Amino acid sequence: MPTFVYMTRCDGCGHCVDICPSDIMHIDKTYRRAYNIEPNMCWDCYSCVKACPQNAISSRGYADFAPLGHSVRALREEEKGTISWKVKFRDGREKNFVSPIRTTAWGSIQSPQDYTAPNAGDYKSQELSHEPDALNIEGGLPVLDSSKLKEGVS
Ligand code: SF4
Ligand code: SF4
Repeated sequence: MPTFVYMTRCDGCGHCVDICPSDIMHIDKTYRRAYNIEPNMCWDCYSCVKACPQNAISSRGYADFAPLGHSVRALREEEKGTISWKVKFRDGREKNFVSPIRTTAWGSIQSPQDYTAPNAGDYKSQELSHEPDALNIEGGLPVLDSSKLKEGVS
């Protein structure tokens, strides 16, 4: 299920419109409430669900935490540092749990221009852009030590 807006909760603030990467959350001109104009293009990224201050949007959870036929609502509370989840299963049961907001300090993510430009040798490296720094691994990526490999194993 793509996003669904509960009209009685939505106050038309437009946060979901601003944040949707698919540009499919729009404000209805008559009712001044948000709605999903193209459900087929919603990939349940949860950006709008978490951004909504009114807890007015439900969406589908991923199969790893709820089976088909359910709906999920999430309440993001910045001051508490938590996201409260309410999963409603198709048999009527509900599951409520709280998870911490993964905090990355505002403005702390470097843009590509902030990194040194790669040189020709970097293109032949196994490492991806910004690795190993971005992986927070001391001393670089782990490598196979041939002395620890067994010979003759098929
Ligand atoms: Fe857009 Fe993501 Fe919300 Fe779907 S879940 S409407 S793609 S922000
Ligand atoms: Fe309505 Fe929530 Fe979207 Fe604001 S963020 S327009 S309250 S659905």
